[in-house]
Amino acid sequence: MRPFACPVCKKELVVSDDYVKRLRWTLRLVALAICLILFVRNFYYLLYAPVVFGLVFIFGSIIYKRISLPPLEDVEGRSKEARYTAL
Ligand SMILES: [Zn+2]
Repeated sequence: MRPFACPVCKKELVVSDDYVKRLRWTLRLVALAICLILFVRNFYYLLYAPVVFGLVFIFGSIIYKRISLPPLEDVEGRSKEARYTAL
């Protein structure tokens, strides 16, 4: 995830890695479940798997972010934390 500047305090912010990981796994599982349903209905529907994954990732991430708001971390604080764990 690319860091961006907070519109209020201008701090560099980034979406937490754990959140991004959880989001991707959830969407992957949802897309797989849909593919499985399609596969059971008709083997050839599996040809649509890339389309299913594409649509689930586009719309799923919008819905997911509405249900569970992305936690933000400031880049400065995070790099400090990384330095502390390295010591
Ligand atoms: Zn701010």
